[in-house]
Amino acid sequence: MGVYVHIPFCARKCHYCDFHSIVVGEADFPGLVDSYLVSLRREALYYRKLWANGPLDSLFFGGGTPTLIPPEKLAQLIAFLLAELPFTSDPEVTIEANPQSVTPQGAELLAGAGVNRVSLGAQAFQNELLTAIGRLHRAEDIGASVRSLRSAGIREINLDLMFGLPGQDLAHWRATLEAALALEPTHLSCYALILEPGTPLASWHEQGLVELPGEDEQADMYQLAREVLQGAGYEHYEISNFCLPGHRCRHNLLYWHNLPFIGLGSGATGYLGGCRYQNAPDVEGYIRSWAEGKPPYLTWEEVGRDQEMDETMMVGMRLLEGVSEAEFRRRFQVSLREVYGEAVEQLLQQGLAEEKDGRLRVTELGLFLENRVSAAFLR
Ligand code: SF4
Repeated sequence: MGVYVHIPFCARKCHYCDFHSIVVGEADFPGLVDSYLVSLRREALYYRKLWANGPLDSLFFGGGTPTLIPPEKLAQLIAFLLAELPFTSDPEVTIEANPQSVTPQGAELLAGAGVNRVSLGAQAFQNELLTAIGRLHRAEDIGASVRSLRSAGIREINLDLMFGLPGQDLAHWRATLEAALALEPTHLSCYALILEPGTPLASWHEQGLVELPGEDEQADMYQLAREVLQGAGYEHYEISNFCLPGHRCRHNLLYWHNLPFIGLGSGATGYLGGCRYQNAPDVEGYIRSWAEGKPPYLTWEEVGRDQEMDETMMVGMRLLEGVSEAEFRRRFQVSLREVYGEAVEQLLQQGLAEEKDGRLRVTELGLFLENRVSAAFLR
């Protein structure tokens, strides 16, 4: 099990982003942060009562921009969570950060508080592309942050990269991959830009103001990432994720194995005791709700056995090693073929999946058509 903590604050909204985060001004921020951190502690204690047995072996701060919170306050929150919740003795503690928000002193404080993994939103190494998507950092900030994190003793570093950006071509993407490799991260995530309705980028695109690489070019970019990163010794272990051997992200593996986790914070989701919940994405409402000792659920549902099976297959097929038929049978006391015989047959015939060493997994073709693969398991 693990814990996800959502920090819904950003210095500015990126043009493509529809994550739950609010833009904070300097004047009102310190008070808001303090109230938010108090609420997170209340929520953690609430779940400790419900789920005291653990063990928890990952803690992940996502956002938003977690590193907008002053590092000394984050360090206190981490110390509180590690002390009050049933964590193992060496949990993975990850924090997402934007390159311009990492300072050498901040990195030292976070490392001292137990942060051992940082996921940096690098996205691209060309300033014109970073500007086109509304990122605040410059390409040169990325290397500077990596160096600060390394000198603070943080060895596990992920770089998030994006392809399919406005104005990006294959040469830009190759240069981004090579610049990322030169920083020797232990982990790399490569995401295709998705036009989310309601974002500035989506509306500029609709008005014809912004051109994006086409589907074929995006597929070429994905293929290039596979070639370049695998050629450099990185294992492609999940549709969008690559790592040096032995450096998979423990926390995200929980999601891909459809295992329970506690979600804390405004807009966070959690999956506990067979129930899935989502907190309302409303920072003020979240603070008010915990002041009254009530969880601020937007949705709460019991996950039945059929739904759990479907979800286990849908997320499990994102892993290149696929789903183990023996593990599926152990978990659900029924064979995967008995439940999904027809769907599996079709995927095999279409060449989107294959069976190997007791596992069902995507083929090279299935990687590019992952939506079709996961949809096959939705009953
Ligand atoms: S920093 Fe991250 S969460 Fe904040 S607006 Fe940009 S993409 Fe969204």
